[in-house]
Amino acid sequence: MKVTAKAYAKINLMLDILSTLPNGYHDLFMIMQSVGIYDRVTVSKTDSEDIEITCNKEGVPTDESNIVHKVATKFFADTGVKNTGISVHIEKNIPQAAGLAGGSADGAATLVALNELFGTRLSLKEMAQTGGKIGADIPFCIMGGTMAAQYTGTVLSFLPDLEAENIVIVKPKQDVSTGEAYAAFDKAERVRHLDTRGMLIAAATRDKKGIFDRVDNVFEQFIDVPDRVVIKSIMRKHGCECCCMSGSGPSVFGIFEKREDAEKCLAELKKSFDEVYLCSSVDKGCETE
Ligand code: ATP
Repeated sequence: MKVTAKAYAKINLMLDILSTLPNGYHDLFMIMQSVGIYDRVTVSKTDSEDIEITCNKEGVPTDESNIVHKVATKFFADTGVKNTGISVHIEKNIPQAAGLAGGSADGAATLVALNELFGTRLSLKEMAQTGGKIGADIPFCIMGGTMAAQYTGTVLSFLPDLEAENIVIVKPKQDVSTGEAYAAFDKAERVRHLDTRGMLIAAATRDKKGIFDRVDNVFEQFIDVPDRVVIKSIMRKHGCECCCMSGSGPSVFGIFEKREDAEKCLAELKKSFDEVYLCSSVDKGCETE
């Protein structure tokens, strides 16, 4: 018996850090959007009483450090279901360490698949609560679509789906450590905060122009990704409605009204970058096949 779930990547239409909390975590305001780049996570029952992980891509850990392992362990602990043995295969398509929540999406898909495989009938909210104990982006990756995510990212509010058909995403080669990105925020003397209230109202009232005018990421003020300047100028040249870095980077996305413009932009970016994608928004975080 096996269940396969698609695990969709996310972009941040807005990411602001409101403050550093006494426990060292950060109080965030984010508008999250699921997009149509996805991993496929297949969970099968075995009789090993273990959690085995395989992945088609090198560089993804397959031991206890994989988010999938941590989520599965938490699923068995929270539900009281005995782990008679599972194997999880990750077909990786989401670029790694990219600011696109690839690991969190796999964790979310694992929960959804386990819920079906073991017939536990957990609600989305219950799965989000279990996932949130492992990673702050996992609850969003379970719910998906367009949402506001606050506090560490685990406090979610539903928003109308954005419905953007032409999203170009580029993952430059540069590595960005999320820990270092937050440390750079903590050290910064001045922060230009974003129009979070205006963004929330624009998103809640389906004001697409209002959303695109406010798309921004506070990390762009602290994290230097030289390719970002080049990517954004190419996206603007092709008439994007907005462009911005996602998460703590380094990926940059641009949203286009016309498919034709997005395709031209994609073709030009492919001359300089290996990891370039054209996708649409999706209204869910995971789905079983
Ligand atoms: P976020 O946007 O949530 O910060 P990210 O897209 O920047 O995430 P991920 O692709 O989720 O980054 O991976 C970050 C690190 O987590 C990787 O370098 C890898 O070592 C580790 N990792 C653990 N589990 C996974 C997984 N299932 N897929 C990818 N990376 C994983």
